[in-house]
Amino acid sequence: MPILIVEDESRTAQELRSGLERSGFEAVVTESGEAALGMPQLTAFEAMVVDVMLPGISGLELVKRLRETGSRVPVLFLSARGGLEDRLLGLEMGGDDYLAKPYSILEVVARLHVLTRRAGRDHSERVEVADLLWEPEARRITRSGHRIDLGPKEYAIMSLLLQNRGKVVPRRQLIQAAWGLEGTVDTNAVDAQILRLRRKVDDPFPVKLLRTLRGVGLMLDLDASR
Ligand code: CA
Repeated sequence: MPILIVEDESRTAQELRSGLERSGFEAVVTESGEAALGMPQLTAFEAMVVDVMLPGISGLELVKRLRETGSRVPVLFLSARGGLEDRLLGLEMGGDDYLAKPYSILEVVARLHVLTRRAGRDHSERVEVADLLWEPEARRITRSGHRIDLGPKEYAIMSLLLQNRGKVVPRRQLIQAAWGLEGTVDTNAVDAQILRLRRKVDDPFPVKLLRTLRGVGLMLDLDASR
């Protein structure tokens, strides 16, 4: 899962992105807090690097609103102001760490490693269920060695199911992961999405992994029967 960079200065943003990519992270850049909040996959990011001083809502306000939705995605604040008060405010607003500019990209990477590990999203993680292999770092899901090409919504749903394998994931959570915070999605659209996912993940393979619990949610399990 990629790291989201929220930074309005494009040169800084590009430097951050290439620095993260050199260290094996995948990174996505957005320029404002409003744009970040509008991203459907916002809660699925592995972590966020957020500039405090943004046009429109500040980085602090962005993270405050994000936390109000219940999201616990790790957040590293970057700020030109490194005074104690600013740092404390950043942590109080829901940030997990705070770096003052100028910073070294190596330090950004090191702190992100700590944050993602602490969040149980370690990069070296691999998850195997029957013949399915999930490599979050490479954002790759394969079955019997065949890569399964998933769209962003399908990948978000699969990631959530894999993180909760063997447990029922309520529809509400699936919708939030795939469509974002608001969760007002036509029920037919959700069913259609799940059907497409099943066609890709289960239909070509003898062992079925996805199980629908009608009116409740979806579960990924070793012995899923239809
Ligand atoms: Ca800025």
